[in-house]
Amino acid sequence: MAPQFDAVVVGAGFGGMGAAIELDRVGLRDFVILERESDLGGTWHVNHYPGLAVDIASVIYSYSFAPNPHWSRLFAPGAELKKYAEHIADKYDLRRRMRFDTVVDGARWDAAHQHWVVSLADGETITGRYLLTATGFLSQPYTPPFPGIEDFAGKIIHTTAWEDDFDLTGRRAAIIGTGATAVQLVPEVAKKAAALTVFQRTPIWVVPKIDAPIPPAVRQLFAKMPVTQQAARLVNTGLLETLMIVGVLHFKQAKLLNKGAGALAKAHLRAQVRDRDTRRRLTPHYDFGCKRPTFSNHYFRAFNEPHVRLETNSIERIEADGIRTADGHKTEIDTLILATGFNLWDVNFPAIEIIGRDGVNLGKWWRENRFQAYEGITVPKFPNLLSLNSPYSYSGLSYFTTIEAQMKHMGRLFRELFRRGETTFEVSAAANTSFLNRVTDKLGSSVFYGGDCATARSYYFNQHGEAALLRPTSTVNAHREAVAFPLDDYVYGTAS
Ligand code: NAP
Repeated sequence: MAPQFDAVVVGAGFGGMGAAIELDRVGLRDFVILERESDLGGTWHVNHYPGLAVDIASVIYSYSFAPNPHWSRLFAPGAELKKYAEHIADKYDLRRRMRFDTVVDGARWDAAHQHWVVSLADGETITGRYLLTATGFLSQPYTPPFPGIEDFAGKIIHTTAWEDDFDLTGRRAAIIGTGATAVQLVPEVAKKAAALTVFQRTPIWVVPKIDAPIPPAVRQLFAKMPVTQQAARLVNTGLLETLMIVGVLHFKQAKLLNKGAGALAKAHLRAQVRDRDTRRRLTPHYDFGCKRPTFSNHYFRAFNEPHVRLETNSIERIEADGIRTADGHKTEIDTLILATGFNLWDVNFPAIEIIGRDGVNLGKWWRENRFQAYEGITVPKFPNLLSLNSPYSYSGLSYFTTIEAQMKHMGRLFRELFRRGETTFEVSAAANTSFLNRVTDKLGSSVFYGGDCATARSYYFNQHGEAALLRPTSTVNAHREAVAFPLDDYVYGTAS
């Protein structure tokens, strides 16, 4: 029985669209992209809270093969990213192959037919020779189980479910969380709310954001001479790469650079916040890079405003009209904004149930045998599966470097498969183990194990204390290996 599709892609964000573009390039054109949301764009469809913008320069937060000369700023607002995603879907003819409001429950390898059977929440099943999961890293919103939250009488809003017509004017608001999302949101809420209390459990490292509008003349130059935008991309990539490799991955060898980044963030804080005690409480006590740092020129300043208060006592419970902290104090509020992020390690690796060869359950296997994936993309016992959001897959600071390396890996793998006249692939256990050993070894030099990350509460670490998210190599290495990995690391076969 032939499968319905060459391939089933789960997720219509930038990862899924990149994978789909690569499928077209290798000639696997008969695919479907399943998306649980009502439209494409992933993160940039779901998130539209006030202040949303990229915090990685737009020249690199985009596909290298589809540059956008129209970004309005060095760091584009979220709405432009959504528009860019729509442009990509149209340009590469992806939209007609997308199915929205389609929740995937799970996928099972059918050994008899050598294809994947994908189960949808509405009971339908779809079959595909290949399965590509592109479900994102930060796609399962997290609401902590605060005691009493169900009794809160005011408005509760999670940043991933922002209501654009919700007016904050005159509100007594609380924001819980101080991650990259809150850093963008706090100054915006402060502009409108009558009172704002920011509940911080762990401070975040924030460095200045060198942002500005891109003048029309420069945009015209980018459009007319794409090489100029490519040059800007190269410079930015170099800067981020240095920050990542030297400051984070080679912490042991270059502690000074890491300390320098921390010193820059501290100077930024000193320059922006007047009150000494507030500054002290906003200062992280873990090394720079243990947790994802962020960029902002407005976050710290908000705490100078008389109606904005930083609360660092831990939350004891939520009451009908406020938040009670461990010191007994109640902050009276009518609006509770949850900037509490995402659950990566309990529900997102993988985001759907995936059952491979011999009935192996991917999520269970990862939890019982360490999180791992060969080159961050394939797993033994899971034939014809490309798991794009895997342990050790995230390479560099812009997600697009990861996406494009994975596209290259896919391209090399499929071309080899077709050259051999085969239809199934599976990474060998030996190749996978060798990759895991290599990344484990390399991580020994990183800030995650060499630095002081004890108090960071960083999502880079999983429930076993392993920093299993980031690929601890340069992006140059990731891209080189994507086009040069040993072809015999895979076992190839023919569907019966
Ligand atoms: P996050 O970094 O996970 O932050 C969640 C916040 O909620 C943390 O401050 C956390 O405190 C707090 N929190 C969670 N549970 C809590 C509890 N029980 N009590 C008190 N506080 C609690 O999530 P995020 O801010 O949404 O950002 C996630 C990621 O999205 C970022 O790291 C970044 O990669 C990405 N992002 C990117 C951009 C961009 O411009 N490109 C913008 C926004 C977000 P603890 O730290 O103590 O756990």
